[in-house]
Amino acid sequence: MKIRLDDIPETGRQVTVGDAAWFPEGDWELVGPVAGEFVVTRQGRRATVAGRLAFAVRLACDCCLEPFVYRHDGDCRLDFEFLPPGDPYWTAADHQCPESELEVVALSEPEIDLGEALSQQVVLLLPVKRLCAESCQGLCPVCGGNLNLTACACRDQRPASPFKVLARLKNK
Ligand SMILES: [Zn+2]
Ligand SMILES: [Zn+2]
Repeated sequence: MKIRLDDIPETGRQVTVGDAAWFPEGDWELVGPVAGEFVVTRQGRRATVAGRLAFAVRLACDCCLEPFVYRHDGDCRLDFEFLPPGDPYWTAADHQCPESELEVVALSEPEIDLGEALSQQVVLLLPVKRLCAESCQGLCPVCGGNLNLTACACRDQRPASPFKVLARLKNK
């Protein structure tokens, strides 16, 4: 999925992404197809890919460890700028974007690798905190049971406060 800047007409170019060969590998599993509909536009050495990206992945819940499906379907925008060899960007110690208000992907060739750019975008779109539900109860620290599925009796067996136990011992 490489797009040469020279091949992007003034009026823009429609790009449909249906395959998932570019989808990033990680501790997730792609569920179902990936759908992307974009319009690529160009202004000189700059190009913008804007449209919609939809995918679903199976993740493990951080709290109860059960798998759940996370769906993303939303706007997606990527900005690129071709910076030829010799541009100060490539020799700068910290690779700051030429214009810091916009995340611009610097290109060393006048060509966009859309698969690679989308792959990085997907990683950013995945939730930092992975929860199967806002109300996930997690695992019981005593028996390890999934508290979403079973209400174990461990909590009731534990004394409410160690100080109460001490108080009870003193009174004996
Ligand atoms: Zn959970
Ligand atoms: Zn328990």
